Amino acid sequence: MFYPNEVIEDVRSGNDIVNVISSYITLKPKGASFFGLCPFHQEKTPSFSVSADKQIYHCFGCGAGGNVFTFIMQIENAGFVDALKLLADRIHYTLPDSGGSEEIARQAHVRDILLEIQKKAARFFYERLRGPDGRAAAAYLDSRGVDAKVRIRFGLGYAPGRRALADFLIKEGYANEFLEQSGLLLADKRGGYYDRFAGRLMFPIFDAAGRVVGFGGRVIGEGEPKYLNSPDTLIFDKSRNLYGVNFAKKSKSAEFILVEGYMDVLSLFQAGFPQAVAALGTAFNQNHARAVKKHRDGAVILFDSDEAGTKAALRAIPYLANAGLAIRVTQVEGAKDPDEYIKSFGAESFAKLLAQAKGHVIFQIDQLKKQYNLDILTERVKFTAEASKLIAKADSAVERDAFIKDVALSTGISADAITADIDRVMSRPMRAPRTRVLERPAKADKGVFDAKCALIYYAAVDPGVCEALNKVLAPDELGEGVYAELLAHIYSLHGQAKEFVPASLISRFDKLEDQKQATAVFARAEEFPDKASKEKAVNEMLKVLKKSYIDTKIPTADINQLNELVKMKKSVDKLYISI
Ligand SMILES: [Zn+2]
Repeated sequence: MFYPNEVIEDVRSGNDIVNVISSYITLKPKGASFFGLCPFHQEKTPSFSVSADKQIYHCFGCGAGGNVFTFIMQIENAGFVDALKLLADRIHYTLPDSGGSEEIARQAHVRDILLEIQKKAARFFYERLRGPDGRAAAAYLDSRGVDAKVRIRFGLGYAPGRRALADFLIKEGYANEFLEQSGLLLADKRGGYYDRFAGRLMFPIFDAAGRVVGFGGRVIGEGEPKYLNSPDTLIFDKSRNLYGVNFAKKSKSAEFILVEGYMDVLSLFQAGFPQAVAALGTAFNQNHARAVKKHRDGAVILFDSDEAGTKAALRAIPYLANAGLAIRVTQVEGAKDPDEYIKSFGAESFAKLLAQAKGHVIFQIDQLKKQYNLDILTERVKFTAEASKLIAKADSAVERDAFIKDVALSTGISADAITADIDRVMSRPMRAPRTRVLERPAKADKGVFDAKCALIYYAAVDPGVCEALNKVLAPDELGEGVYAELLAHIYSLHGQAKEFVPASLISRFDKLEDQKQATAVFARAEEFPDKASKEKAVNEMLKVLKKSYIDTKIPTADINQLNELVKMKKSVDKLYISI
């Protein structure tokens, strides 16, 4: 059976690997990954790692590895198509018939209609807010100090009486099937429809491309719940969409500000901070984190200053950090939320508050400190042990040093002892021995093998390296099989300027063994402190590879070819690429 790449990629990206694997084994966050006991070999200390960022898993013990499909194939002992079906089911994704393209075209058609309905509804609500029906909602916005410009930019609206929108959409001629799927109407007992959001102030939710994909509604007057969101539909997914992302992505700020509510986004926007986004009635999760990462490398968490807000921030941090985001945290003082803070203290104070946001590790240490009575020795010891685990996750040695000094100061425990503790934490699963190496290369080939893997890795994650390599290194110079194929995929994806996810490349291999080898390439990542040292390393590896490729030709070469090969080898010495 044939499924197009887009379908396979839809199903893969819809199934977060950490979520899926967590339903089989217990995973704990550690550094940039999650670790657990490997389900594919017997072990007592966890060497099975799952990367939310790369969406792959890899066992440092037995070498098992792959993406979410590989995992299901391995653990359920299933073929690829069955794994695909299982994962599609899990996210209620309708797979096309084996014919393929017809079903895809039909789904695209439904999506278009649903988008059109949301757009018409948004306009309908917008006009009602400005008419007599919308007086109470407009008065509410007045009371919250939302100015006219913001009301227009965010397309705020009002949903009047019980069936106003239903009547309007039916008159527009939409079939029942689409009315039901829109998430805007509910069926009544007599086969008719009524408005889900009747009596609410409406916040259209835009996707990053600026299309209305759903709504949030705040009740005006009495009623429960206070806030109501569209249900998930074919075009709207609460666990992914971020409110305000359409404006935030265009802002000049290097970081997004993550806030809790619609009103926070609005009031920050009005005060000159268009970079604020909010999750929609759910806690920030890994999908939100990835949605942020698509646009920025950093974010400031600014949740409500109460206990619930602090807890939500602590819960969100691991997801955001695992997505590779630089996270800072700040809290408003003397106000319950950012909206209230800006109203009481003004935009300038808010800008200062933002500038003073702390790195997430120090924020977590501060929160941890509150749980212990540091006057008592045993509590100090417990606190230090927990703090060491946090410090081990810090991004740089400089940061770690600063945190160690801070903890030493507040506990009276020596910095050396804390450092020793942290070293122990850091050396545990990350450096677990690789008892079985995948390709078992002979010692002399180890350098070539490493160079292959490393160059593929850097070509995949660094567009500069990819472009430079593409000019001088042909995929077949990597020999035959998985590695050459991987590099060819990476070159072609780079040409199409597609966003790169290691896990999506792995789906392109049918055999489990090949998926395992491909995954191993991405499980090993050495980061360089700067571009110059990376360029140097890339060039060294390139030489190793090219020479070894030439060496493989020598045994079968005739005298003319031999001369040619020697010349080639000399030119390799002079080869230098800039990345
Ligand atoms: Zn294993």
